[in-house]
Amino acid sequence: MSTVAEIIQARPTQPLFINGEWRLGSTGEVADNLNPATGAVCAVVAQASAEDVDAAIAAAHAARLPWRKLLVSEREAILLKAADIIAQRADELRDTLIEETGSTLLKAPWEVGYAVECLRSAAACVRQAHGETFPTCAPGQIGMTVRQPLGVIAGIAPFNSPLLLSMKKIAFALAAGNTFVLKPSEYAPLTGLKIAEVFEAAGLPSGVFNVVPGSAETVGKKLVEDPRVRMITFTGSERVGKLLAAEAGKHMKKVTLEMGGKSPLVVLDDADLDYAVDAAAFGIFYHQGQVCMASSRVIVEDGLFDAFCQAFTVKAKGVVVGDPHKPDTIVGPLIRPQQCVFIAEQIADAVSKGARLLCGGTYDGPYFQPTVLADVTPEMTIYHEESFGPVTSLYRARDFEHAVELANDTRYGLSSAIITNDLQKAMAFSELSNAGMIHINDATISDEPHIAFGGTGDSGFGREGGRASMEEMTEVKWVTIQAGKRAFPF
Ligand code: NAD
Repeated sequence: MSTVAEIIQARPTQPLFINGEWRLGSTGEVADNLNPATGAVCAVVAQASAEDVDAAIAAAHAARLPWRKLLVSEREAILLKAADIIAQRADELRDTLIEETGSTLLKAPWEVGYAVECLRSAAACVRQAHGETFPTCAPGQIGMTVRQPLGVIAGIAPFNSPLLLSMKKIAFALAAGNTFVLKPSEYAPLTGLKIAEVFEAAGLPSGVFNVVPGSAETVGKKLVEDPRVRMITFTGSERVGKLLAAEAGKHMKKVTLEMGGKSPLVVLDDADLDYAVDAAAFGIFYHQGQVCMASSRVIVEDGLFDAFCQAFTVKAKGVVVGDPHKPDTIVGPLIRPQQCVFIAEQIADAVSKGARLLCGGTYDGPYFQPTVLADVTPEMTIYHEESFGPVTSLYRARDFEHAVELANDTRYGLSSAIITNDLQKAMAFSELSNAGMIHINDATISDEPHIAFGGTGDSGFGREGGRASMEEMTEVKWVTIQAGKRAFPF
């Protein structure tokens, strides 16, 4: 019988994908990728050195002009083929997401389906890189703007929905005529490498897409500093996003930031209680709360508050926690057990300062019980900070105005939602909410590949999806044509 060390040694190292080639890192460094549910090593992954990242950037840089010049019909065909390949390999990609991110059977197939739709949406954008024409004040002059790709774009992706969030960046970047270097999360490198397999099978020319798993410091630093990289598209935490924005500023590099949130779901007195409870539960327990748009604050108007607390606690206690492979599991493992420790500390801080724990609050290994708090106040860390786990706080609002005030009492501004049949209040909420995305009679979690997604404040800036991505990932040039001679002043 083999020892664990022997099994790990026998497992082939997952390579990097640079310039259309699968290769080991130049230093031979590798890192273990762990299964969050079991803690077992699920892959050994080559780690890119600064030299490897340099090679990936060089490949993307060399490929950018031929890729840009490809006919739109050819770019479109490759994106559509990649979509078909993902659809054909859906089970394999689903299993990778379960294996390396602890995604449940509820979330993993949805994410794979999203990647297919994302590629199809991007393919639909290829022919839509419109410019404009303008009348000008110069006699005989025609003015126009044209959209051009930026060149090399680097994507830095988080662990929680690595296929969806990477693909949203890659698909539209390629659609707009850019080439790409992906730094996947250190917790989800396999998904990044699977994306490379898909594009390779779809016939994407060498160098157009490259994947460099590796340490945040080495890979991230090189991507931000290298002048050939024209834009960084980042999804991840507020801490890292702010660091990257500062670094990118030093290098005059365009950056878009999709960061964290403390998204409020507002429930008014007239809401259907069961519906509101379901929306809140989906909003906070889906993917064990590891969603940037998670409803980590539920603000309920006074008349419904007590009934909501009771019904929501019953719902939370009924949420099945456990093995992500089981079809009835709603809350699977958090990405690492340390995340449970971090959340338990937030809860302990809140309870020590007077918060009521309505249910949950405990964990076993990487499994955190669905947790509901009430009486949370601004003195408590959890009032302001993201938990990124299955934990929400219920707030009593005196009236609609107070609900809006509470909803906006955050430095974040990603998503918000309101449940009410009062159209006037729903529309007023959409106007007054600080968030970049407002959902009426729905949960705070919603994502469509063709609609502008993004936040305000410390949730970041820039938008992703459809036309918004095409605009972020291109630059506008003003071109004039002078018919006849212009009358110069001297
Ligand atoms: P993270 O910020 O720790 O890591 C994100 C990526 O940044 C990883 O690839 C990581 O390796 C890399 N990174 C870390 N330090 C870096 C550095 N110094 N230079 C360059 N790259 C560096 O985030 P995470 O823990 O993977 O993801 C969870 C966070 O992401 C949460 O805050 C969540 O809200 C946020 N998120 C936001 C969205 C959104 O669309 N707004 C979506 C998903 C997740």
